[in-house]
Amino acid sequence: DPHAPLLQVRGLTARYGHVRALEATDLTVDRGELVAILGPNGAGKSTLLRAILGLVANTGEVRSEGVVLPRADPVAVASAGIVLVPEGRGIFGPMTVAENLRLGAYRVRDRREVERRLARTFELFPRLSERLGQTAGSMSGGEQQMVAIGRALMADPKVLLLDEPSLGLAPRVTAEILETLRRLNQSGLSVVLVEQKAPLALELAVRVHLLSLGRTVAVISPDQVKSHDELARYYFA
Ligand code: ATP
Repeated sequence: DPHAPLLQVRGLTARYGHVRALEATDLTVDRGELVAILGPNGAGKSTLLRAILGLVANTGEVRSEGVVLPRADPVAVASAGIVLVPEGRGIFGPMTVAENLRLGAYRVRDRREVERRLARTFELFPRLSERLGQTAGSMSGGEQQMVAIGRALMADPKVLLLDEPSLGLAPRVTAEILETLRRLNQSGLSVVLVEQKAPLALELAVRVHLLSLGRTVAVISPDQVKSHDELARYYFA
């Protein structure tokens, strides 16, 4: 169903062994939307993204364009266009920038299509095109995040899931990464953004999900977060 949301999560529950990290969570992302997930340490933000991919034991329903996605098959979920940039970036340090990027399109047989995607990635991150032969592990933190996002884009995602892309980055570098996300989103890409640095996430988001102790405590507009005294104190202190 092309009119159904690109990503629709219903009653998603996840656990690590006996630890329940996510309780009956709902999330809907329509075409071109950027949705932010906020919440304190341990709230279950990373678990939500990992459960959508099927990287952690979970129950519930995840649909893309109305089609139910398997709950324990991350490759199938990625093939459906739901692509994760994990916390810590998950790039391969000893491999070159070019090798890391091409990995994102490993399923694409058409070489010209791979080259088209590379060109698009370099348009967004010109610096990567100057560092193709450099090992990814020797790049700066910000550049490594660009490699991680670039590799995800090589898969031509419908929905990009990002787990704290600003983690460990200087404010200026964070701003640069988020500006790139804004451009991607404006060009039509749907995004789910997990961020601790709430003010930056709020500038981009159409909706904010607040998680606490594995539960969704609120789904609100960015303005509501800013005008809500308690939340504002919590997230902007
Ligand atoms: P942070 O910002 O600190 O990463 P988060 O909101 O992303 O926090 P999660 O990482 O999703 O939170 O963790 C949710 C809960 O699940 C926490 O109580 C955490 O201790 C637990 N947890 C996460 N990963 C594991 C794991 N591999 N094994 C056991 N428990 C885990």
